[in-house]
Amino acid sequence: MTDQHPWQDWQRFSADQNIHQGICRIYDAIGQAITQKGPTCWASGKCCNFNAYGHLLYVTGLEIAWYVQQLPADTDVTVDLKAPCPFQIDGLCSTHDIRPLGCRVYFCQQGTQDWQQDLYEQFQQQLIELHKQHDIPYAYMEWRYGLSEALDNRFVNG
Ligand code: SF4
Repeated sequence: MTDQHPWQDWQRFSADQNIHQGICRIYDAIGQAITQKGPTCWASGKCCNFNAYGHLLYVTGLEIAWYVQQLPADTDVTVDLKAPCPFQIDGLCSTHDIRPLGCRVYFCQQGTQDWQQDLYEQFQQQLIELHKQHDIPYAYMEWRYGLSEALDNRFVNG
């Protein structure tokens, strides 16, 4: 696969402690904001079974590079662009602590969509600011597509 995105740059940036901490701070803050909203998760698995439920997840390249760096070194998954997220196991996220912003904010519970959108925009803006502060190239892409590229590039370049 060609290096269509600057994965080496994102890997280097996401290993920087300041950027690592910045990402963790944003994830902690969205976690607290969601706790205050009090949505219910029934572990239906819908959120990660994209094609079946007509829901797509978009993530920044930096977050994907960071996520891949947090995975155990021997992680060996195949990303199928038509299948659910490869990290969903028995309907649950197997990487709950490191899941990206879009995964943290999405709930299939009816009546939560308005605040989800507001929170998503607010925290996505914080991610954009993090990119600007550190002069990080910005790109936003479909999760499985980006994951596939990042994993390929991790094994080639990591
Ligand atoms: S990382 Fe976890 S929450 Fe996000 S799509 Fe994959 S299984 Fe679902």
